[in-house]
Amino acid sequence: MKEKFPIEVFPGEDALEMILMFDQTGIISYVNVSARQKLEYENDLCGKHISEVFPNDFQTGKDNFNAQDFAGSELQHLNAYRKNLTCFPVEARIIENSVCPGMYICMANDILEKEFLNREVERIRQDAEEAMKVKSEFVANVTHELRTPVNGILGNVREMLSRRTGEETEKQLHLIERCCDDMNKIINNILDFSKLEAGKFTLDPRKFHFRNMLDYVKGNHINKITEKGLEFFMTVSPQVPEYIIGDELRIVQILNNLLSNALKFTSLGKITVEVFRTAQVNHKMELFFIVSDTGIGIDKGDRNKLFQSFSQVDASISRKYGGTGLGLNICKQLVELMGGGIEVESEKNRGSNFSFSIWVEACEGDKVLLQPDDVKNKNTFDQAALQSQNAEEDTRTYGTRENQENLKKSLSKLILCVEMENWEKAEMFMETIRQLTQEAPSEVKRVVLRLKMAIQKENYEKVTTEYEALNHFL
Ligand code: ADP
Repeated sequence: MKEKFPIEVFPGEDALEMILMFDQTGIISYVNVSARQKLEYENDLCGKHISEVFPNDFQTGKDNFNAQDFAGSELQHLNAYRKNLTCFPVEARIIENSVCPGMYICMANDILEKEFLNREVERIRQDAEEAMKVKSEFVANVTHELRTPVNGILGNVREMLSRRTGEETEKQLHLIERCCDDMNKIINNILDFSKLEAGKFTLDPRKFHFRNMLDYVKGNHINKITEKGLEFFMTVSPQVPEYIIGDELRIVQILNNLLSNALKFTSLGKITVEVFRTAQVNHKMELFFIVSDTGIGIDKGDRNKLFQSFSQVDASISRKYGGTGLGLNICKQLVELMGGGIEVESEKNRGSNFSFSIWVEACEGDKVLLQPDDVKNKNTFDQAALQSQNAEEDTRTYGTRENQENLKKSLSKLILCVEMENWEKAEMFMETIRQLTQEAPSEVKRVVLRLKMAIQKENYEKVTTEYEALNHFL
């Protein structure tokens, strides 16, 4: 049958997509070159029923066929059958012809290749995912196997340190302890890095006492900082509430990392930590941290490399100061997971300023009286810092209401961590308790020391005994 419509009526003759025109009852009256070629017909498609091309999709049969039922502007996935009854997938749109009402146009694209490519992409993605899974399982196993002997050595060394040993032996034991701690840091970094890379890292936000957390961080570094003859200042603006909800362990990790670097690369001057609340949206608030040092500084050209994995400024630095070049990359990924960003400002031989922001949640019922901090407004900050220092002093003085309240809270958190076998976190609360009892009578301090040792040895029975003894004093 000859085509009813001359080519000039229908301008899609040479189009790459297949074009078929049919009437209300489904009888085809026009097919373009592409459709003839793809469906492998000569001029004998006109006059046939459209359900011969799409038998699976237009199942109503010729007698009940109503083109209107299949028309619409959305793309449909259909199977087009060639004359020899083989088929291929198409993406088609069927619309009523506005020039000739009662006639319908089917525009279809062969998506065989596209589907093949999609399947290939999916297969490659799955292979990559599988490889990543194997890699992270391997890293998890290896780091676990490494951690067990290191902790074994560490436990024994601490046990030996708790007994009386000669000065020389004690020095050597402290050195082994330090090496084990360094080794544990590297192992943890590799594990975190691999989890972050695999997208398997999840945050664990909980309510915690913000300033206690900072005290713990300070406690981690203060000895080494003073050993090096450096000054240390930590100020928190009062706009930062007492309690917040966030991933405490990870915030500690970021601060520990930045402070370790500041300490590593500074031999003269001071290290400071400042914390501000810079924004508040409903329950969420942005906290802004600045860790500054007066150390060796970083060249402008090297600054953009800093946050890449395994990147150190140059080989001489890694020889002199050690490190894996993973720390800042992990910090960046953690900060981004917490909705913020990390930046560095630095001047060679003058020092560096690492600043980062994170979003945390305010606790229900906590009063937030003041406007967010203006980071540039130092005067307000200084006054605020003074107030916060006074409050801090009250907390530190053994026997004050603030001090006893904080002690009780830290102690109950500690025992909770022990119940949950989270020894790492229990050590963190232990450090807060140690700081809060620095001025306590010696019988209290002795219990604190015994509790600390029981935690280090992960001895549940001893911990509960000492916990009860300490509770008795409060
Ligand atoms: P590493 O574990 O090697 O210290 P990081 O990712 O923490 O790895 O740091 C990468 C590099 O950035 C360091 O090797 C050092 O060159 C540079 N760097 C980081 N912090 C400081 C700083 N406070 N002062 C000078 N250089 C720094």
